[in-house]
Amino acid sequence: MNPPSPTPDEFSSLPLEFVPYPPLPPQTTPTPIQTPPAPAFALPNPNAAFPSFPIPKKRRRGRPQKTQTSFHFPQFFPPKAAQNQQQKKLGPDISEEIIVINKESTNEALTGLSAGFPADSLTDEEIDARVVTNIGGIEQVNYILIRNHIIAKWRENVNVWVTKEMFLNSVPIHCHGLLDSAYDYLVSHGYINFGVSQSIKERFPNEYTKSNVIVVGAGLAGLSAARQLTRLGFKVTVLEGRKRAGGRVYTMRMEGGAGNRVSASVDLGGSVLTGTLGNPLGILARQLGFLMHKVRDKCPLYSVGGRPVDLDMDMKVETAFNRLLDKASRLRQLMGDVSVDVSLGAALETFRQVYEDAVNKEEINLFNWHCANLEYANAGLLSKLSLAFWDQDDPYDMGGDHCFLPGGNGRLVQALAENVPILYEKTVHTIRYGSDGVQVIAGSQVFDGDMVLCTVPLGVLKSGSIKFIPELPQRKLDGIKRLGYGLLNKVAMLFPCMFWETDLDTFGHLTDDTSSRGEFFLFYSYATVAGGPILIALVAGEAAHKFESMPPTDAVTKVIQILKGNQFNLLLKILFMLLSHLLSHKFMQLLEYQICVLVANFWSSYHHAWSFKLALLPCSFEFHTVLVLVLR
Ligand SMILES: Cc1cc2nc3c(=O)[nH]c(=O)nc-3n(C[C@H](O)[C@H](O)[C@H](O)COP(=O)(O)OP(=O)(O)OC[C@H]3O[C@@H](n4cnc5c(N)ncnc54)[C@H](O)[C@@H]3O)c2cc1C
Repeated sequence: MNPPSPTPDEFSSLPLEFVPYPPLPPQTTPTPIQTPPAPAFALPNPNAAFPSFPIPKKRRRGRPQKTQTSFHFPQFFPPKAAQNQQQKKLGPDISEEIIVINKESTNEALTGLSAGFPADSLTDEEIDARVVTNIGGIEQVNYILIRNHIIAKWRENVNVWVTKEMFLNSVPIHCHGLLDSAYDYLVSHGYINFGVSQSIKERFPNEYTKSNVIVVGAGLAGLSAARQLTRLGFKVTVLEGRKRAGGRVYTMRMEGGAGNRVSASVDLGGSVLTGTLGNPLGILARQLGFLMHKVRDKCPLYSVGGRPVDLDMDMKVETAFNRLLDKASRLRQLMGDVSVDVSLGAALETFRQVYEDAVNKEEINLFNWHCANLEYANAGLLSKLSLAFWDQDDPYDMGGDHCFLPGGNGRLVQALAENVPILYEKTVHTIRYGSDGVQVIAGSQVFDGDMVLCTVPLGVLKSGSIKFIPELPQRKLDGIKRLGYGLLNKVAMLFPCMFWETDLDTFGHLTDDTSSRGEFFLFYSYATVAGGPILIALVAGEAAHKFESMPPTDAVTKVIQILKGNQFNLLLKILFMLLSHLLSHKFMQLLEYQICVLVANFWSSYHHAWSFKLALLPCSFEFHTVLVLVLR
């Protein structure tokens, strides 16, 4: 299915005289990613044959980063002389040689890295699967080369099913054991040959040869696991509490205007495919032939009164902010273990004051905006993030552009759910497990199986609403207790027409109240991908907590105030539309126009991931009726 073409503005043919917008500040250059020097090459330690890859830092998810092309790869293979020397030392035993499969091994290492495999070592999962006989030797180096090669080959064309035979010629015969090991590992763990393409669907067995598995939850995790298990021959049943699949991915169709003349699809939950290189969702999109829209770098910021922020000041504060993050990284190295107990927020604020990087009101507002952006990217308060670990997930960055999927991520959910046996409205409250199988109980219904796979959100596990009999092992209970989660709220609005710039996907808004710095700090324009003029306002950090108790109408009023202030002249434009419609005898029709406003309260989604509440508030806003949905 092709993505919807950009919606023609149905009002464009009318004799409107739009107020000119003030020019937006030119795009701010994102901070280049620091590339540490290549590590020295030192055989015989075979791990030294692999470059260590600099990792892109999670700093600016809202204001998108440039493509991570600044990855720098040192020469992947040891220089020939080093290889010869190595050979001389070790004699002619070919099992002690580093093999050459592909001249593009450095690129293949990048592909492996984006799929979650370190360039110079095995993952714990690989070690558990005993993919090599000796950890840390030449055998491991060769295994990694073969593993990366297989992943890269499949990624070249994710619509085909790659077979072991395809590699028999390229992998030297004495390494065919490693080929077996790498191929079997990658297929059984779902790193290759997964997804929804025809060639993969054809591999689904006609009958089940293995045990019965009950999967609890039909979010992305549950659906993907169900597909993989089915392909491996297990008989799978998915139990889902809601009436729909997708969980925290939920694409909603919004409609407005008489006869619903304007409509668009909006993602209330997960919306951005964060790094399409390694992201399995990017692979699904490719298999389905869905085009992806790169979130554009342009993200102008607007000050409290709606004025565009001075570009020089914007760049100055952003550079200072990133410099302080670097200083914070150095500080944690100096502090060692003690940095666990220091918050990132405290470190940044101390540095800001010491280095006097943001001193006047506007600069402090800008600084706070970057803090809010970081709280959004981390889904947590800076005051609660440990200086030691706040960026611990950086090594798992998937690389590549951040993208929107035109039409919404619900299209991926639909493809994943195809032919998966899902029983809806089955809220599981008890799971009994033991050596003779499992019993999963939803309401008064008991589902028997050999195994159960529980994919409910952390919030559900923390709430204790599922009773495990016997109790989960202590290490799992400890993990559930220790892990935390944050808040992110969204207000989605469908407008009669697009009154903001067309060449951007994001813009930001500053506030002079530090405690509400995350309140509607960032707007996503979905107009390019949603099929209609949609804006989403994001609420992160401290403000997201306050938002939990804010009446939806207040939230909408606040957002509209911001938009009015942002010199977008929303009201003026609507007034012009009204006048022009009046002239064309469509006035009455327009009065019936609705702005659909949707408030997605996803904190509750974490906690009560399966309950859904719909509230229709009979209120009027500006010239419009407001329809408010609260998603819980
Ligand atoms: C507002 C918001 C914005 C986000 N933005 C992004 C983004 O831009 N990019 C990104 O990559 N990620 C984003 N995420 C995160 C992403 O959506 C999630 O990581 C992902 O969807 C989680 O999938 P999951 O299958 O693990 O869990 P879920 O999607 O939560 O699935 C769990 C399923 O279990 C069901 N369930 C729960 N309890 C029970 C029970 N007792 N019995 C039966 N069923 C039960 C739930 O109904 C749900 O369907 C966002 C999340 C939110 C909330």
